Amino acid sequence: MASIKMSRRGFLNTAAISAAAMSVPFTLKRSAASDNNAKEDKKLHISQNWCEMCFWGCGVTAYNREGRVFKLEGQPKCPKNYGKLCARGNSGIYQLYDPDRLKKPLIRTGKRGEGKFREATYEEAISYVADKTNKAIKEYGKGTVSLIAHGSGEHAFINLMSIIGSPNTAIPAYSQCTGSREIGWFLTYGRPYTGNEPIDAANSKCLMFFGRNVLEAVMVGETQRVTEGMAKGAKLIYVDPRYSKTAAKADIWAKIKPGTDLALMLGMINYIINAKLYNIDFVDKYCSGFDELKQSVKKNTPEWAEKETNVPAETIKNICQELSNAAPSCAIGPGRRLTRYGDDTQHVRAIGILNALMGNWYTPGGFYKISKMDIVTPHICEIEHTEVKGGEKIERVDGAGSEYRLAPKNLGLENKLMKGILQGEPYPVKVMFAYGTNLFQHYPDYEECKQIIDKLDLMVTCDVYLTETALYSDVIFPESTYLERKDPIGVMTGKYPYVKYREPATAPLYNTIGAYELVEKIAKKMGYKNHFKTIDDVNKEILDQLGISIDVLKKDGVYVKPTFEGIYPQAEGKDLKFNTPSGKVELYSVFCEKLGFDPIPKYTRHKMPKDDEFRLLFGRQSYHTHARTQNNRWLLALHDFEIKAWIPAKKAARLGIMTGNKVRIVKGDKKSRELTAYVTDEIHEDAIFIPHGYGRITKFMELAYAMDGASDANLCSNGTDPISGASAFHQAFVKIEKV
Ligand code: SF4
Repeated sequence: MASIKMSRRGFLNTAAISAAAMSVPFTLKRSAASDNNAKEDKKLHISQNWCEMCFWGCGVTAYNREGRVFKLEGQPKCPKNYGKLCARGNSGIYQLYDPDRLKKPLIRTGKRGEGKFREATYEEAISYVADKTNKAIKEYGKGTVSLIAHGSGEHAFINLMSIIGSPNTAIPAYSQCTGSREIGWFLTYGRPYTGNEPIDAANSKCLMFFGRNVLEAVMVGETQRVTEGMAKGAKLIYVDPRYSKTAAKADIWAKIKPGTDLALMLGMINYIINAKLYNIDFVDKYCSGFDELKQSVKKNTPEWAEKETNVPAETIKNICQELSNAAPSCAIGPGRRLTRYGDDTQHVRAIGILNALMGNWYTPGGFYKISKMDIVTPHICEIEHTEVKGGEKIERVDGAGSEYRLAPKNLGLENKLMKGILQGEPYPVKVMFAYGTNLFQHYPDYEECKQIIDKLDLMVTCDVYLTETALYSDVIFPESTYLERKDPIGVMTGKYPYVKYREPATAPLYNTIGAYELVEKIAKKMGYKNHFKTIDDVNKEILDQLGISIDVLKKDGVYVKPTFEGIYPQAEGKDLKFNTPSGKVELYSVFCEKLGFDPIPKYTRHKMPKDDEFRLLFGRQSYHTHARTQNNRWLLALHDFEIKAWIPAKKAARLGIMTGNKVRIVKGDKKSRELTAYVTDEIHEDAIFIPHGYGRITKFMELAYAMDGASDANLCSNGTDPISGASAFHQAFVKIEKV
């Protein structure tokens, strides 16, 4: 394994050279000349893929000459990106050739976390995992096996859990990210919001976001549509305690006191109703509970909201007027990572209500209708669904579907599963598979994370890097990167539904395999006789249903559904239906009431920081995805190496801190690694902000480890939204210490 020897100067020099050699523009367009040259170049291998540097899944074409991948280019026909890639997408080549990648299976030899492993063959590592898992099942039952997974291969591991018959799967994309959004939208409109981000932003006249830093936390298609709308004249209204890149481009930036968003939303609802700025026809025809809503927000005037939020009443009124002027070609986005203050589902309910008052459902510039492909996605392996067939019903550890009635069982609750393992309740969980996910960077508290892993008899990680989670694992399987893998064809919903194709751009560079192959081997070694189809078999079944040949996908990478129902049914004069108890948009949620929650969102003031405290806020940079890309030299070259903590000027002066000083963030007896202070008036005085994904403890990711910075996961709160069961990270208060 590589040792940490690089000086900061050396790092900066080599990073700059690498970046210059590669040039990472935001867009790279395919030229006719390069297409013609490609045809004549016999040594050139062109393959299709989808980018997995984040989970948006942009279509990408990879160019390989004489065995080396040298260029990635956005697929022009892919509805996720229409020919564009972001910086992270372009830097997928660095990940492929990163010397820090895992190269062989490893088995732990030292203590957990000590970093001592020996290389193993697949046969040996798989036998080790199969034997230990079977032993645990024999002793504790099937539910003793757990899975936390994120990425294309998660479906392979979900298959493994289904074969075993354990319900204890958690997909962090729900509990640590979008869970409250999906549930809040479902309660209001009778359908989840989905990761399509279904705002028709390119045609919108006014867009509003609460803390969704859409111009910085880039997902190419979404960011493209927003900027296209803005270029055509759409107003942008942005609510955030911090002057982010999105705030910088906004027509109105509301510098809100953190934790008070719901008060602002209720103030807006009050004003829109009383000033009669709402769409009367839409509300009369399609909404239920308007009178109750009006009554409920009676006291939440803009002036009341100003006192709570620090956003002036006049600004609140202006925002409402702008939205109403644009309606129904306007949209208020419900955000993405809704794991903030614990009342996040009610936040989304309030945003859903605001949109309903604008009458923008299924209209150009509002929300479009999501369509899907008319095919059945085949399973790669035969599975006996024991519970479905009346077999053994095993209680879930995380309470999804029971204590947290609305939390979907197929997505689970990571935070609750982890707590259950720690407490041994309702039964011992002794085996965990972690696929493509780094628990230490999104489960609050490093020490608790270690204690949880220590409760296990077997911790298995499958990843591209030796992450912190891998560091604490007993067995590590090195996954092939997406540029080395074949995966089953992806079937996508959206404004323009499509299928996407992945083929290897190069043979695996090292002794790595994909998740599907690995899972089949583990299942068979455990003694399961289930039939596994090949990826080619699955692809053929999909192609047969579509009636197209593989050549279409080999050429374009995607196949977009040629005809489908309209995407703006309301504007097309069709009658709208909503899958809610009332059959209407529920301003008053019957379901919420039945479950004992407020049927109309109500504001309760959160605990606020003391004078010497700050609320800890964190978020993404445009150059990085979660904690996955901080070892990528090309991406590191795009920012200035120093990891900055945004600190409000007034409080910084009291602490004697100036921009450029080294500081640490302190929470109780925990202290972060060093950060560089950025003292500014552009953040609310209650908060500090740090970028996510730093403060690393694994030395096996050399560059990421060499960077300073704080790990928000080690400092944030571990609260829960009682409706969705999702996490609440921003309840924590911290202090700042000058180094
Ligand atoms: S948004 Fe960027 S990183 Fe994400 S899939 Fe697209 S190109 Fe890749």
